[in-house]
Amino acid sequence: MKKTVLVSGGAGFIGSHVTVELVEAGYDVVVADNMSNCDMTCFDGVTKIIGRRLPFIRMDFCDMEAVERLFSDYQIDAVIHFAAFKAVGESVAEPILYYRNNLSSFLNVLEAARSHGGCNVLFSSSATVYGEPDETPVTERSPRQPATSPYGNTKQMCEDFLRDAVKAYPEIKGIALRYFNPIGAHPSALIGELPRGVPNNLVPFITQTAIGKRECLNIFGNDYPTPDGTCLRDYIDIVDLAKAHVCAVARMLDGRMKEPYEIFNIGTGRPVSVLELVNAFEKVNGVKVNHRFAPRRAGDVTAIWADPSLANRELGWKAERSVEDTLAAAWAWEKHLAGK
Ligand code: UDP
Repeated sequence: MKKTVLVSGGAGFIGSHVTVELVEAGYDVVVADNMSNCDMTCFDGVTKIIGRRLPFIRMDFCDMEAVERLFSDYQIDAVIHFAAFKAVGESVAEPILYYRNNLSSFLNVLEAARSHGGCNVLFSSSATVYGEPDETPVTERSPRQPATSPYGNTKQMCEDFLRDAVKAYPEIKGIALRYFNPIGAHPSALIGELPRGVPNNLVPFITQTAIGKRECLNIFGNDYPTPDGTCLRDYIDIVDLAKAHVCAVARMLDGRMKEPYEIFNIGTGRPVSVLELVNAFEKVNGVKVNHRFAPRRAGDVTAIWADPSLANRELGWKAERSVEDTLAAAWAWEKHLAGK
């Protein structure tokens, strides 16, 4: 029997890539999204890539009745929960909005999972939970630091919700994946990142500068205690990241979990500086990215990268794509959007 996976927030950047990989791995997938931060571009891209239209439910996970209905209408074996707000700066300005949205939507998923006889729940967490780490690379046992934004706090709190729910209700199993910096796009260039307004993240800013939508990339800080003075991050290819979800779902569904609640870092294990990333983008794509050094951005950590060995070993997953290929895919996607 084919297993059914519900992808909440499945029309967004990460959700759409995960949906494609799940379908290619043979799962039935139900996509649900309230479209609050995206349009149909990525869902339509998924339809083109897989050659058919998946069930799509436009709904808000804060609406408990709608969540209940969804779990009644489909026999859901696993849910991957992406539906959340994700802008760090906005979360500082609108904490109530962020707490209400990100926390209640996940509580609703857990409640429906429980009332429908149990479910496997995969939560999309973030390396942000590690804050400024004392030691790099970080392992899953590295301490979480107090969150510096309501957004980061919602990631920590949702991890705790899942941990506690799993402890109390044996019919729920949970995995939290802590993503490092997801970048790139599907090799088809039919799905990718679609930031609204001025991008906060580095790679969309790079691609928009290269194509002429932005005048100049500000590199935030070149006086950090790193080899070239710019921050170090672990940039993980979006398709590699998506495949980690397939491995995690299979582990849950096949009963291979060692604990009922597990956490995995999803990264490459390779630190790359902002400047190195910009240079690699220019080189692999043969385009210039106008840039200048600007003051540090408040809240940025100096250096963080993953020790992904637990995921490598336990999930049988490994980041495979080179940063060059990933940056080429990001550029192809930007050109696709520009109709070039
Ligand atoms: N960054 C930058 N200019 C930008 C956006 C980001 O120099 O316009 C830097 C940022 O300071 C950080 C890195 O790029 O060192 C990655 O930032 P991003 O916002 O993509 O992810 P974060 O690691 O903050 O989650």
